[in-house]
Amino acid sequence: MSCARPKQPRLRLDPQLYEQLRDQVVNRDSWRCQACGSMSNLEVHHKEFRSQSGDDSEQNLITLCSTCHAIVHRG
Ligand SMILES: [Zn+2]
Ligand SMILES: [Zn+2]
Repeated sequence: MSCARPKQPRLRLDPQLYEQLRDQVVNRDSWRCQACGSMSNLEVHHKEFRSQSGDDSEQNLITLCSTCHAIVHRG
């Protein structure tokens, strides 16, 4: 038996503000992954985890493509 629970993102910002911030960061990084330079499947990554003094500021965010993002999170 499995219990499927919907994913609940713990966002402190409301989604609309978060999207704006994401746009700002991606724009600042010239729409390129800051690891490999790819311009597709861009995502925004928190450099510091929120639990370790990381916050939702632009300086704490970096643009990564989904591939590099997955690598960062896998360690
Ligand atoms: Zn990349
Ligand atoms: Zn991330």
